[in-house]
Amino acid sequence: MTDFARTRAAFHLPQGVIYLDGNSLGPMPVAAAERVAAMMRDEWAQMLIGGWNRAGWYVQPRRVGDRIAPLIGAAEGQVVMGDTLSIKVFQALSAALALNPGRRVILSDSGNFPSDLYVAQGLARVTGAELRVVAPEDVADAIGPDLAVLMLTEVDYRTGRRHDMAALTARAHEAGALAVWDLAHSAGAVDVDLLGAGADFAVGCTYKYLNGGPGSPAFIWVHPRHAEAAQPCLQGWMGHAAPFAFDGDYRPGAGIERMRVGTPPVIALAALDAALDVWEGVQMADLRARSVALTEAFIAGIDASCPGVTLHSPRDPARRGSQVGLRHPQAHAVMQALIAQGVVGDFRAPDVLRFGFAPLFNDMSDVEGAVDRLAGILRSASWDRPEYHQRAAVT
Ligand SMILES: *Cc1c(COP(=O)(O)O)cnc(C)c1O
Repeated sequence: MTDFARTRAAFHLPQGVIYLDGNSLGPMPVAAAERVAAMMRDEWAQMLIGGWNRAGWYVQPRRVGDRIAPLIGAAEGQVVMGDTLSIKVFQALSAALALNPGRRVILSDSGNFPSDLYVAQGLARVTGAELRVVAPEDVADAIGPDLAVLMLTEVDYRTGRRHDMAALTARAHEAGALAVWDLAHSAGAVDVDLLGAGADFAVGCTYKYLNGGPGSPAFIWVHPRHAEAAQPCLQGWMGHAAPFAFDGDYRPGAGIERMRVGTPPVIALAALDAALDVWEGVQMADLRARSVALTEAFIAGIDASCPGVTLHSPRDPARRGSQVGLRHPQAHAVMQALIAQGVVGDFRAPDVLRFGFAPLFNDMSDVEGAVDRLAGILRSASWDRPEYHQRAAVT
């Protein structure tokens, strides 16, 4: 059994705060501050450029990738870190398109995160591909014989609706297409099984449920059947077969190495490495069971004591990730009032209150506290104060 009291204690959570926004930015692991300080003090300061070899900075994108692999149903040597998720989406999608040269249609859904759709639109413009976007429930039926790549985010960032990765991947393969999965709201939140599902490419960020800190690097996974065939479109020197030969011409590195682009963010990787220590001894089946228990209890509490909001997530936990969306016409002001009372979720336009339940550090007391305070705010309409109607740049 996973010891979730230990994992909760591994995070710095400010006094009095119920943090239900780990799906947007995970809290700081206590060990991360010292790990980063040690990296600066003992490695950068002392070793200077020697740190690339002596401290292992150069191999860190693969070493940290190997630590993420078991959390997403992948194996050693299949995951590499670097860049932001938007860039990893571009890399995976462009490589998948190139592996299916006779076709030009990319299929995604309207529940996908805008950045993924923007990247696909830009890539379609320069490659002559066509992006088709359908409603999430229509994806399966929209997979046809002209499809090149199915590009989906497994868990919808607003509703928490979870696609059936294995079934949709199988359907894409039957139609002769490849499947690219974005795990932004899955990695560290649900039990992902990339190899079991037979997915082709996957990408994800590490500052959400993996708690790597703001701006921590993204990851990319390539199924081993494509690893030596995938042609990266972003051909950077760190993905070259021999970066320090300084050849004038690009030759892809071995396997997943070719998905590296440029110099890795070594300081950020130190924080992420500390965050991944927390996962030692965590069983993904336990994580999923705890996530379901938390979201079920939250929904039951909302049903019982919060009239005036409507559930914006699937009721069936099998179809839900680790977050719950609620709709309210004044969702922004309601969330501001909640945050003022120490319950931190977030608001997604136009009218969604979003609550992430991160099994590593959230527990039933968080669920109860959040339901109680939301019920009080709705009952008293205390959200309707002028200060709660002000909008900041980042919501
Ligand atoms: C959070 C998120 C992103 C963010 O991309 P960045 O490049 O890391 O800013 C992209 N796609 C999805 C699906 C996300 O949930």
